[in-house]
Amino acid sequence: MAEKGIYTKRNDGRKMDEVRPMSAKVGIVPSADGSASFQTGKTKAIAVVRGPRTLHPQHMQDAKTGILRVNYGMMPFSVEDRIRPGPNRRSEEISKVTEWALSSVIDLSGFPNTVVDVFIQIPQADAGTRVAGINAAAMALAHAGIPMREMVSAIGVGKIDKTLVIDLDKYEDSEFHDGEGSTDIPLVMTSRSKEIALLQLDGKISIPEFKAVIEMGKKACDNILKIQMDALKNITGEGNE
Ligand code: ADP
Repeated sequence: MAEKGIYTKRNDGRKMDEVRPMSAKVGIVPSADGSASFQTGKTKAIAVVRGPRTLHPQHMQDAKTGILRVNYGMMPFSVEDRIRPGPNRRSEEISKVTEWALSSVIDLSGFPNTVVDVFIQIPQADAGTRVAGINAAAMALAHAGIPMREMVSAIGVGKIDKTLVIDLDKYEDSEFHDGEGSTDIPLVMTSRSKEIALLQLDGKISIPEFKAVIEMGKKACDNILKIQMDALKNITGEGNE
């Protein structure tokens, strides 16, 4: 537990720059064109890719390229209070930002008039679900054989009171109310050019702190990339976790 006003010790005993235990699997849904799961601590995301397939209605088709469509949702049992099924403002925002992040690395110019659907579902949520979903979706797209200029890896970084931290859990993200509170920054990095494909900022942080925390995130993304690539080399094909 934190001392009042100063975050000196993490809730779960981690170091400030230490991520939660992470794991990944590819090939978890055999009937899909691509599928993967990514877990960090108690947060788990699964992603399924279907396509490229002809986009309907026809007037939405683009004769020059295929399009990516992302659908993110939390399962009703993913948190203690049941989540109401169906889209809401939050899920629509997360679907959109995920679509933008992934669109920056995929190339659908070889598949005109088509759509690639990415379905992301969260069976367990303990903060960081959008970045876990992006990690799973990137693997599922690669598994589906969608042309990608490079991979993407994602992590939540931030600040709790005056302390920079990485991979915030739900307590750190929203239930730490002492001192300056918490700042949450979902970050998506590309694997080769090391560019930022998505960055959102909820809270307050100084520019030097921001630069330092992005460096922490960059290192974590390098490690997450290894986990993703290992999973892609060891496709389960079991259909069960
Ligand atoms: P992210 O999951 O990407 O961190 P948010 O910051 O919006 O996105 O959510 C943080 C966490 O809050 C979620 O991971 C989940 O644990 C919890 N949460 C989000 N929406 C709900 C909800 N409707 N009911 C209960 N808990 C929720």
